[in-house]
Amino acid sequence: MTEIINLTPHTINIHGAAAGPVTVQASGGVARVATTSTPVAAIDGIPAVVTVIGNVTGIPAPVTGTWFLVSGMVLEASGRADLCAPGSLVRNDVGQPIGCNGLRVKFAPAVCCNCGQEFPQSDHGADCACGGSVI
Ligand SMILES: [Zn+2]
Repeated sequence: MTEIINLTPHTINIHGAAAGPVTVQASGGVARVATTSTPVAAIDGIPAVVTVIGNVTGIPAPVTGTWFLVSGMVLEASGRADLCAPGSLVRNDVGQPIGCNGLRVKFAPAVCCNCGQEFPQSDHGADCACGGSVI
């Protein structure tokens, strides 16, 4: 059994699963990444900044079988293997965003050798609830 904990401030509708869209409510916790922006010379009169990515905060300690859903920027900034981010934006007929296309991960998931359930790669070696091992 795996769980997705939403560490963004928004409810996220994930499209693409065979059973239909999956809605993941905001958990209340929010993962953030610190950024420092320094103004640099303007481009064609338009102000521009150089942004440096800093530390990621707000991600709980790893829990076997648990994915933390974070923004794409947090995913990029962190080395954690139990993070996922919303995939590309899905829009309705009039162009309004209605969710995302699947999930984006930095590391391919590990799987249970017995039941095939996907786990964060950081769970490699853990025991699955079915009695199998995560490989
Ligand atoms: Zn299993």
